Amino acid sequence: MEFATFAARAEELAAEPGDIGTTLAVADLLRATDGDDLATVTRFLLGRVFPAHDTRTLDIGPALCRESIARAAGPNVTAADVEDRLASAGEIGAVAAGFDFGGQRGLAAFGEGRDVLTVAELDGALRELAAASGDGSESRKLDALFGLFNRCDPAEATFLARLVLGEMRIGVGEGTVRDAVAEAFLAVSAGGDGDEEEGDGDEEEGDGDEEEQPDGDDTDPALRADDEAVATIERALQVTNDYGRVAALARDEGLTGLRAEGLEVGRPVQAMLAQAGTATDAVESFGEVAVETKFDGARVQIHYVPEGDGDEADGGALGPELYSRNMDDVTDALPEIAERVADRADVPVILDGEVVAVDDGGDPLPFQEVLRRFRRKHDVDRMRDEVSLRLHAFDCLHADGADFLDEPLRARHDRLVDVLPGAAAELETASDVEAIEAAEAAALDAGHEGVMLKDPDAAYTPGDRGREWLKRKPDVETLDAVVVGAEWGEGRRADLFGTFLLGVRAGADGVSAEADSRRAETGDDEFATIGKVATGLTDEELADLTERLEPHVVSEDGTELAIRPAVVLEVGYEEIQTSPTYSSGYALRFPRFVGVREDKSVADADSLERVARLAGDAA
Ligand code: AMP
Repeated sequence: MEFATFAARAEELAAEPGDIGTTLAVADLLRATDGDDLATVTRFLLGRVFPAHDTRTLDIGPALCRESIARAAGPNVTAADVEDRLASAGEIGAVAAGFDFGGQRGLAAFGEGRDVLTVAELDGALRELAAASGDGSESRKLDALFGLFNRCDPAEATFLARLVLGEMRIGVGEGTVRDAVAEAFLAVSAGGDGDEEEGDGDEEEGDGDEEEQPDGDDTDPALRADDEAVATIERALQVTNDYGRVAALARDEGLTGLRAEGLEVGRPVQAMLAQAGTATDAVESFGEVAVETKFDGARVQIHYVPEGDGDEADGGALGPELYSRNMDDVTDALPEIAERVADRADVPVILDGEVVAVDDGGDPLPFQEVLRRFRRKHDVDRMRDEVSLRLHAFDCLHADGADFLDEPLRARHDRLVDVLPGAAAELETASDVEAIEAAEAAALDAGHEGVMLKDPDAAYTPGDRGREWLKRKPDVETLDAVVVGAEWGEGRRADLFGTFLLGVRAGADGVSAEADSRRAETGDDEFATIGKVATGLTDEELADLTERLEPHVVSEDGTELAIRPAVVLEVGYEEIQTSPTYSSGYALRFPRFVGVREDKSVADADSLERVARLAGDAA
């Protein structure tokens, strides 16, 4: 494919307003792309030359890009001129297009003698340029990029500039490419029998246009690849991290080929992620909960094939390689972790874990200490003496030629304990909140960050931030809230207040004492309610609060009492959520009494603004 064709299609994509239209247009482009160009074009659409798992980068910064554009623009143009134009155009592609490089050389853009740039040639040139290293590599990159710009018409220049800076600005994201690949190569064919197992790419070719016709289906002209096709592609993307490869596989081998795609030692996958959650959430969702320490360090994915082992299944020996959460290669910065893996593992593995800095006694140090080691390129040996590291492996994705992504955590954990003796404890499980809280307290006592609560039956889903893994950290900050109501207790606490309605200051200027009493009389709402607290109080505390609050009761309705703001409570919580239940628009999840803020008047209580901030909303 000529790069000019790609650029023209990219311009059309940028002008396409709808999501479905974009997906169909990308599908069209992919169908129209032959041979090896398909993988390249798929990556280019996402602004990539290399797949995400590949640690190579072009390493072309904006300055180098501007400089090469200036050079291609002719002797009278400087990098500063390019910068000026960038300031008004706001975007490098438009700047590159504006110079009309072909015109500079007196060539008609599509005229005779034009040295046509193909997608394949450009890809090769950029890969070569990425390999430049050492002295003079900067100027070699500049020369190479200048040479490429020199051959570009305005549309090509636009997309070359954007490609080297990794941002295409054509409204095509990863989800679009995924859906488009499904649409292009795995859609049930027109009038077809739904036998998508065939996956025979050839049959799809050449009849792309007919595919656009809805086949008697009266649903919108939309996407016809089914959910299974999309899920299969998603899965192949998770294990390969390469949109180009997956597009080619979908075309050439269909669903069968995509399903056969497995992990490869040495090719990192995205890490599985966690959502915030509580012990109660975990017990309710999983029943039995795997409780692991949440280590406060840096994520590492370990790939290793020992000498003389697994050569067939895993493609030859591979010294331990360590990848960060973003799949950067951090092996050289962490030699002792690599050594430890090589010492202990006897079979090829892909493991997931956390590297933590420890003091001389082996106790964990704050996260910042790990950072001093993590991406270090120089003085690694000196820093190795200064900051000791420990590996806590917690998952096993692959061992001895077999992938375990679809195995339950329990099984993966058993494999982990087998393959890395001594580096991981047996999986601990608990089925009640108290046991989890005890484990959390022990983890915190030992200086860790909290606990991870995992579904022991869940698969490992790379890149997914699902509810299968919950992270549970202690409350970061408490809230000082005003008691604005109460409910009588029950049973032996029937003559005491048992539940307290909490409010935060809602007025922008805080609340004056006069406003307090006026509010009580008039019902004027100076405080916005945010939740009720009923846990964490002893009988004595309830008796004390009842006594303090009784004089401030303004009205009583059944078991519910309205209380004039007078007492400030410090409350903990798991999370602040938006909620229509309370007048603040927020609700505390699992609020818990910490104490009475004797030192605070209601005017010093927390404001709605702070709540919004704690909830992560813009204040
Ligand atoms: P956060 O960074 O707060 O989103 O928490 C998730 C991170 O906790 C993961 O990406 C890991 O780096 C880290 N982590 C620490 N211990 C564990 C564990 N036992 N299981 C999974 N992740 C863990």
